[in-house]
Amino acid sequence: MDNYDVLIVGAGTAGLMLARELGKSGLKTLLLDRKKDLLSFSFSTLGSFIDLDRYQLTDYVVAQKMETAVLYSRYFTRTIKGNGYILDKSKLHEELINSIDSNYVNFKTGVHIKEIIKDASGQITQVLDKNGNNYTGKIIVDASGTVGVISKQVGLMPKSVLLGTGVEYNVKYKGNPSQGHLFVGKQYQGGYGWIFPLQNGRAILGFGTFDNQVAKELKHRLNDILELPLIQSLVEKDNETVEGGSLPITPVLEKFVQQNLVCVGDSVSQVNPIVGEGYKFIFEAAIMASKAIIEALAKKDLTLLHSYEVAWRKKFLTNYKRAKYSQEKIFKYSKKDYLVDMAILLTKLRSDESIIRSLSGEVYD
Ligand SMILES: Cc1cc2nc3c(=O)[nH]c(=O)nc-3n(C[C@H](O)[C@H](O)[C@H](O)COP(=O)(O)OP(=O)(O)OC[C@H]3O[C@@H](n4cnc5c(N)ncnc54)[C@H](O)[C@@H]3O)c2cc1C
Repeated sequence: MDNYDVLIVGAGTAGLMLARELGKSGLKTLLLDRKKDLLSFSFSTLGSFIDLDRYQLTDYVVAQKMETAVLYSRYFTRTIKGNGYILDKSKLHEELINSIDSNYVNFKTGVHIKEIIKDASGQITQVLDKNGNNYTGKIIVDASGTVGVISKQVGLMPKSVLLGTGVEYNVKYKGNPSQGHLFVGKQYQGGYGWIFPLQNGRAILGFGTFDNQVAKELKHRLNDILELPLIQSLVEKDNETVEGGSLPITPVLEKFVQQNLVCVGDSVSQVNPIVGEGYKFIFEAAIMASKAIIEALAKKDLTLLHSYEVAWRKKFLTNYKRAKYSQEKIFKYSKKDYLVDMAILLTKLRSDESIIRSLSGEVYD
């Protein structure tokens, strides 16, 4: 068996970004994923206020640039100017994979990790797949997304988490190709709707909710939304393909490291609670984790891995706690149209720039 510095479980958003950073430093890394095709996804577009240059990504990953976004309540709208992106998830992951240094980083796909083995001191010595094959590394990373295959076993992530679920249709689009739309209010049943414009007169129409009851019949709800006059004025459905997925919305966690285990991404709930944006925040966390891993291995001191948690808390914790508080209020009040109307009216008192800062999670210094 090869002797790896770092073993990463999960070659998704977090795992790929982390592997790219580790590869740059010449650390021998093995990335495992249960999927056979790393570029097949249950949904294909993401809204983001990401700074592409910061993550050395190119325009290739952009499905459409957004210059304005419109927020809708029942009676009011607020149009915000500001640059955002609709990202093509598949192209973004493809670009990340191509930028990973294959001299140092190996991939193994179709490997479904099931359990871990620890020694008497509590360090993970082996990771086992469901066929009983074992893998090891000096440092083990859980980047398995909402599955949290290790983070849940060791108690860094609660076993049962509340999930937000979203479903989407790819539809014909009659609106402005550089304008995105976000709909909140009673008609969206405690969730929200969105339209992400794409090129060639198409768009993604989505509906997401945090309400478990509504989540059970999401496709029906998406069809209900399609009947709304406002939605009909913007899009037209011409196929039955529904895409979707879930993301964790429950906890704001502060601990991502345990002995030689490091967790990144949805496996430790790093999606911004209010914005719902995972990419930018997960990239930031992966870069922080990579710095801690590189230092811990160079100095042969695993306690240095905790510098990742310290850096994350310093940059995000206050913001995430505030966002979590707002998220709870939004869940509670978004079914009451007059409150959503009031919220939209209040946004008129704020500058476009300050709203974009809130929407983008204010991460940049
Ligand atoms: C419907 C929906 C809409 C979203 N919209 C946006 C958006 O607009 N903008 C945005 O920025 N973010 C959005 N997100 C969030 C974003 O997609 C996630 O936060 C991000 O992809 C999480 O990255 P990750 O690497 O933690 O997990 P993932 O990207 O899910 O990667 C986890 C990987 O681990 C693998 N894996 C899982 N279990 C095992 C196992 N046992 N063994 C081996 N491999 C395993 C999986 O196959 C997968 O490849 C959305 C999420 C959803 C569900």
